Amino acid sequence: MRVVTRFAPSPTGMLHIGGARTALFNYLFAKRYGGRFLLRIEDTDHERSTPEATAAILDAMNWLGLTPDEPPLMQSERAGRHADVAHEMVARGTAFRCYVSAEELQARRDLGEEKRVAARREGLGDAKKAVLLAEAGALLAPFRSPWRDGGAPPSADAPYVVRLRAPDGGDRIVEDGVQGTVKVHSSEIDDLVLLRTDNTPTYMLAVVVDDHDMDVTHVIRGDDHLRNTFRQIPIYEAMGWAVPHFSHLPMIHGNDGGKLSKRHGALSTTVYRELGYLPEGMKAYLLRLGWSHGDQEIFTEDEAIRLFGLDGINKAPARLDLEKLGTVNAHFIREAGNDRLFDLLIPFLRAEGDLDPSARDRIRTALPHMKDRGATLVELAAAFRFLRAARPLELAKNAKKALSEEGVDRLRKLSSELRNLAAWTTASISEMIATYCTATGLSMGQIGPPLRAALTGGLPAPDLAPVMDWLGREETLGRIDDQIQTGAG
Ligand code: GLU
Repeated sequence: MRVVTRFAPSPTGMLHIGGARTALFNYLFAKRYGGRFLLRIEDTDHERSTPEATAAILDAMNWLGLTPDEPPLMQSERAGRHADVAHEMVARGTAFRCYVSAEELQARRDLGEEKRVAARREGLGDAKKAVLLAEAGALLAPFRSPWRDGGAPPSADAPYVVRLRAPDGGDRIVEDGVQGTVKVHSSEIDDLVLLRTDNTPTYMLAVVVDDHDMDVTHVIRGDDHLRNTFRQIPIYEAMGWAVPHFSHLPMIHGNDGGKLSKRHGALSTTVYRELGYLPEGMKAYLLRLGWSHGDQEIFTEDEAIRLFGLDGINKAPARLDLEKLGTVNAHFIREAGNDRLFDLLIPFLRAEGDLDPSARDRIRTALPHMKDRGATLVELAAAFRFLRAARPLELAKNAKKALSEEGVDRLRKLSSELRNLAAWTTASISEMIATYCTATGLSMGQIGPPLRAALTGGLPAPDLAPVMDWLGREETLGRIDDQIQTGAG
């Protein structure tokens, strides 16, 4: 059996982080077993589905590199096929035409509610209460249609829906890949609608027909669909189709254990791109969100494909932990190739202001040495501010302090040494400063602060020798001269 998985989002909004995790797990499971990963856009709800949402989902999946093995299937284009299946089920006697109108059904539910409320009235005898509750229970129970065993239509042109003839008697059992054995009694399954009066398929029918036609072997989805499984399996059985293996993933909660909300980071997946996370960092974090393999925290994609399995998925809800996402992302920033990282960084550098060619070159040179300076591309871009600050540099308070008369005097002497330095490299600059300190009897503690202040204006920066190297001789001397001028003025 060749494994086939699918991700089946409804394009009614962004691809949130839970959806991205579902897509990832389906992708990894298929790759793990040399199978196929497919994408189906469940756009049957015409009122709520939008092409923008579809585009956003495709964009997010593309960003994460979760490329389906076939072009996405649009569910709405298959309505004819769905209807054919429903009619075939009617012919087989596993579905039927039901003439109960939506209004009648609503009235039935309303009456059930009324009786339930009535049963709570004060001063009602126990016996009367029990009768009311039993009546309410029957009216509110999963609907079993009076037409399920046939019968003549009320009139020749009476509108009807097509309903599944729900299974009778006994427990229905699903061996879920994550939840284990799940049991539901048949009486909890309704004669669900397959085709509406206008001959359009319901979601429940469309999912089953599409999964069958796409040869899906493993359905991995959120546990909000666990109950639906019990309504979907009878459709497979009615058609004599193989039932796929189901796995339902626990929810993702906020870090306080509460329902995930915006405040917890329940953002659109592509917002994480804007926040400066790398797709591989995001993916590695999503992988660990509800799946584990021993104590290992960080997995490359190859490792994940080798190790992923349903047995590693936790039953308990996972907690979204943005701090951990940052740690994982920081790892992947350090691992990223310099050219690619620089390309990814450009928009974040631009967001900080105009990026002139010389600043750009300096940053490109410094990047391999600065990769540990941010957990996100936003932070990393900010770490380069000292390389692109415009002259004369604005001075932070402590920088001003370091540029005392004495400090500036030291810079003046150092500046002429720097001007005469033959080769401009980190090593030669570092050596020159050491020699200079020995010759003058000054310590690095005396030279460092004014020099750092002049070169960075007080912005965070690494060691001064590499900083001067990246700035280049001209810019280094220029920044120092600016302070000498100011000091002299
Ligand atoms: N379209 C459904 C949703 O977005 C998923 C259905 C499924 O995976 O079976 O929740």
